[in-house]
Amino acid sequence: MQDTPPSVPDFTQWPSFPFEGDLRVKQLDDPVPVEPPRRGEENRECTACNAPDEAYIWVGERWRVRAMDRPTGLPMVLILESRSHLDLGDLPNLLAAELGVMTVRLERAIRSLDGVARVHVNRWGDGSAHLHMWFLARPYGRLQLRGTFLSLWDSILPPISEAQWRENLAMVAAWLAEFGGRPLAEPPRIQWQAPSSLSASPAGDAEPAAEEETVSVIEAAEEIPEPQEEQPAEPQPATADGAPEQPKAE
Ligand SMILES: [Zn+2]
Repeated sequence: MQDTPPSVPDFTQWPSFPFEGDLRVKQLDDPVPVEPPRRGEENRECTACNAPDEAYIWVGERWRVRAMDRPTGLPMVLILESRSHLDLGDLPNLLAAELGVMTVRLERAIRSLDGVARVHVNRWGDGSAHLHMWFLARPYGRLQLRGTFLSLWDSILPPISEAQWRENLAMVAAWLAEFGGRPLAEPPRIQWQAPSSLSASPAGDAEPAAEEETVSVIEAAEEIPEPQEEQPAEPQPATADGAPEQPKAE
């Protein structure tokens, strides 16, 4: 038999699938025998552990909540992090129980925002070893965005207005603070990423670089690790994982 390319799965025909046209399945790379360390593993710095409280929208004794560095397509995208440098399966019982409480609390806070129908909770963890849970709000009425492609749509939809985004952040922070902790009602005060798109482009290029647009959950979900110094094999796209304070490589 000839090795015929695998046919594209049925979900490419679903209304929620964001793309149309001719698609084909990518060739899979060979599996690596040993996976590279994630951020916060071995000799790699942990961006979450190094981030100051001011980079978050709400902080408590054992948990912190942060936002993206700018509005994206969904009405709200937030990340819940433990203060302790632990991964999901390593949480002691106290933190495991609190994770449940925090997850419910944050879901409800985000769902209470105007225009939010549902909040999807995700944990990937391929880029950073430090526990971080994603909360993605689906806009009300957007039935086409239902399901697992929501994280893709976050990068496709036009960003919500900055004013609305800041208001939403402040509301969630205030909601969480009802139960304790400290709201940083304002959104992150430090730039999680180099504000390249906010300043005039020295290149004078009207086209925004694709890398500058990749600030939402999808590439964060992908969590592409930084290229290692030892193996400058292929040029990686800008580093992006669940730790957006890492400056863009380009
Ligand atoms: Zn850490």
